[in-house]
This record gives sequence, structure tokens and C-alpha cells, in this order.
Amino acid sequence: MRYGHGRHGRAVVLGGSVAGLVAARVLAGGYDEVVVVERDHLPEGAEHRRGVAQGRHVHALLAGGQQALEQLFAGLTAELTALGAPVGDMLGDVHAHLGGYALRRGRSDLLAVHVSRPALEASLRARVRALPNATLMDRCDGAGLTTTADATAITGVRVIRRADGSAEETLAADLVVDATGRHSRAPAALEALGYGHPPVERIGIGVGYATRTYRLDPNALGGDLGILVGATPQHPRGGALATVEGGRCLVTLFGVLGDHPPTDVAGFEEFASTLQCPEVYEAVRDAEPLDEPVAFRHPASVRHRYERLRRFPDGLLVMGDAVSTFNPIYGQGMSVVALQGLALRRHLAEPGCPRPLEFMREVGRIVDVPWGMAAGGDLSFPGAEGRRTIGMRVLGEYVTRLQAGAAHDARLGRAFLRVAGLVDPPMALLRPDVVARALRPRRPRDGVVLGAVTRTSSAPGRPGAAGHRP
Ligand SMILES: Cc1cc2nc3c(=O)[nH]c(=O)nc-3n(C[C@H](O)[C@H](O)[C@H](O)COP(=O)(O)OP(=O)(O)OC[C@H]3O[C@@H](n4cnc5c(N)ncnc54)[C@H](O)[C@@H]3O)c2cc1C
Repeated sequence: MRYGHGRHGRAVVLGGSVAGLVAARVLAGGYDEVVVVERDHLPEGAEHRRGVAQGRHVHALLAGGQQALEQLFAGLTAELTALGAPVGDMLGDVHAHLGGYALRRGRSDLLAVHVSRPALEASLRARVRALPNATLMDRCDGAGLTTTADATAITGVRVIRRADGSAEETLAADLVVDATGRHSRAPAALEALGYGHPPVERIGIGVGYATRTYRLDPNALGGDLGILVGATPQHPRGGALATVEGGRCLVTLFGVLGDHPPTDVAGFEEFASTLQCPEVYEAVRDAEPLDEPVAFRHPASVRHRYERLRRFPDGLLVMGDAVSTFNPIYGQGMSVVALQGLALRRHLAEPGCPRPLEFMREVGRIVDVPWGMAAGGDLSFPGAEGRRTIGMRVLGEYVTRLQAGAAHDARLGRAFLRVAGLVDPPMALLRPDVVARALRPRRPRDGVVLGAVTRTSSAPGRPGAAGHRP
């Protein structure tokens, strides 16, 4: 599809991961030529890559991200299903244990697409490769930006191919998108060009991940797609078990504030047995392991507030983890990228665009919601570092109440998943019908009494703020 107002020329995207591929897909509709510069070798199929070390861990696609990716890459869900990715209902086919409560099953009409990160990336990559005006230039490092003499506009990128004896080359561009992920050099480049360093926000949460792949007995989950166990301040350990394509199952365990899962087999299994509910451990206890556990550390979530700069050079945009890295336990990153992709498509359809600062402000608004939700969850852990507000605390208590209600009322679970999944805005949880259900007095054996929250037998965890919360 071509859109926009007669733009021509070349767009260069730095980074060929999810954000880079989403950007390339969109830009191919508005530029004559799109070149994606990626330092890794980009395989044809679903393989792990050095530049995406996080790809070995469970990568949940939130409902908002699934819907946005489907808009950008029509038919993607059917393609992933055909590859063997299990697909089902987020509330009906996933055992979710959040805030210490097992959510009551019901239909959410939100699709859970269980695909491994390398397989998702391979599908997106194949789509971009098939675009007639897009080129993937792999094994090539983006080494810096070139600008006009007065530095008011970006004119291209300096690149170095990863081959013996390669010299630096300049790739001229009418637009450059930085999608190089969490180690992006865009903040430093902007500062060096005289635009100032974008303000940075940071939430220190000290998350540690460990993941192992298994082959499960086909009946082990009773037809479910997976299990999700959130962490709470009282029990700061969680995990996710996701069946994925190829009949495999990924088990990711996590702990916050230094309570990290070990990567030796005995330690990994012991950690699994300490989650708030036994289902993950029970599922893998007799399963066939296919590899050894691998770790990932996420010391802090970081947000670069490009939208707060007063000036921005023409011809430069920043997307994805280069703008904000989220605590991975909320599964937001790829979905936020997809929403940024839709925003880029809208933006390019307007006359006189791209206007970088305007686009970065839109990106900032997109990030506000998941960042706020994750901050609320993270900062409910007393040891987490970041700015706490009274609003966060009040909302956190309400969400705890709502999750307790969702143990009995599937409509509350649905409302919660729509907001946590970036489909509905957070205000949807304050709709009168939702509030009335969330605050409904329940008999003690239901798990909730007015003004207090008690434990349920079906939800053995302690009440409190949750992992996976708005
Ligand atoms: C442990 C973990 C678990 C996660 N789980 C989830 C989840 O469940 N759901 C979810 O939605 N998100 C999850 N995320 C986040 C998700 O991985 C990212 O949001 C997503 O990959 C989008 O990132 P990106 O494309 O912006 O950057 P990245 O995926 O980090 O990719 C950056 C790319 O740029 C390339 N690159 C870097 N520098 C250069 C350069 N100078 N020149 C050329 N190329 C360069 C790299 O090789 C890489 O390919 C998780 C993250 C982590 C760490």
C-alpha cells in the first residue's frame, strides 16, 4: 500500500529487529527505497541472534500488539497459526494467576498467539524481505549519523560492513529511523549535535530471568496454551509457561530485586516449585528438557523522553526499545513497537510529514500508558527505585481489589486484560459497571470481604499488588 503525499527518496532504518522491521514495513509505503541496516547476520528462518539475546525467553504478544501487528502485516496471525503457533483466548485458554489470584476463566475475545520470539521475527523479516522496495543490509554496523553543515537535518548514516578490510561508507538518506534497541546511541548523538540529551526516567527493579525449553506431554496442560504467574511484593517470584510452535514449551522464571532464578538445573526446578501456584512446576516436573536454562538481567526500565526536547533534527525518528525499555514481566515491548508502527503510518499520511518532534511526541503518548502501568506495578515493591505518587498507590490498591474480584468474575478479568493488553485505556477500569463489580462485597469464602482482601483456596498466593497490572 502506498500512502502519503508524494514523498520520494530513501529511508534508512538502523536495527533489523521487531521495531526496525515494523518501521520498514510502514516506510515502504511512503518512500521509494527502504534500507534496513543490521549488525547481525539475518537468517532466513527462526534462529536465535546475538543482537536479540532476550529472544530465548518467553515473548508474550499482548492483545493490543497482536491486533496492531495484524493491521501492519495482514494475515500474520493465520501465518503464525499455520507455522504451528498455538492460538486461543487470553482468558479462556491461559491459566493466569495475577496479584495472588487465579483469574476466573471466561471468554475475553482477545487472541493469545503463542509464538517464540525468533519465529515471530522470522515471519516479520520475510514480509519485509518480500517488499519490492525494501533491502535488508545485514552484517553491517550503523556507526553514526551524517548531517547538514548546520546540523539541522540528518542526511544519512555512516556504516561499516562486517567483512575483512571494510572501510566506512556513507548511506545517504532522507529519513533515518533509529531502532537499535536499548543500547541506542541516539541520546548521545543528539547531545553531540547540540540538541541536548533527552531527559531520562529510570525505575530500578532488578529483574532476573531464566528460561528453559521443554517438550511437554500433550495432555499436561489439559488443552491450555500456557500459564502465567505474576509476582507480588509479598512473593516476588513469578513465571510463564508458554507452548509455542514446534510442539515446544518455554518456561521462563523470574524474580525481582535480586531474587533471581538460578541457571543450574536443580536450582531452576527448585525455584519453579516456589511460585505462588504449583502449575508451572507440576507441568515441567516430568517434561523432557530440550536445553539448559539461560539467564537475562534487566536491572532497570529506562525511558528516554525525546518528546521533551525543544528541537529535533529533521530526518530522524527513534522507535522501540531505543525510546523505552520496559520491565519484561509485563510483556509490553513488542506491542508498544506495533502501536508506534500504526502511529508512524498515520503520521506519514499527513501532508508535510515526517515532522520528527511531532512524531516523537506521539511516541511519548503511546509510551505513557504502558510505562505508567509498569511503574505502578514495579513501585509497589518497596525496594524498587523510582518516583512514587499517591495516585499510583490508590490505583494499585484498586487493581488489587479488581484482581481479587476477577478470581470470581470473568468480566473483571476481561476488563483487566483489555487494559493490561493495551486494547482499552486505563480509564476503562474506572467505568461504573467495572468499579461496581470490583468493589462488590463478597462473602469471606469468596476471597474478598468489604474493605479487605483475604486468601482463597483456589488462589494460594498472598494478596497484594501484582505483576501484570495496569
Ligand atoms: C528478557 C526479556 C523478555 C522480554 N519479553 C517480552 C515479552 O514477553 N513481550 C514483549 O512484547 N516484549 C518483551 N521484551 C521486549 C522486547 O524484546 C523488545 O521490546 C523488542 O525486541 C523490540 O525491541 P527493538 O526492535 O526496539 O530492539 P531489539 O529487539 O533490542 O533490537 C535491536 C536491533 O538493533 C541491532 N543493532 C543494535 N545496534 C546496531 C547498530 N549500531 N547497527 C546496526 N544494528 C544494530 C541489534 O542487533 C538488534 O537486532 C522482552 C525483553 C527482554 C529483555
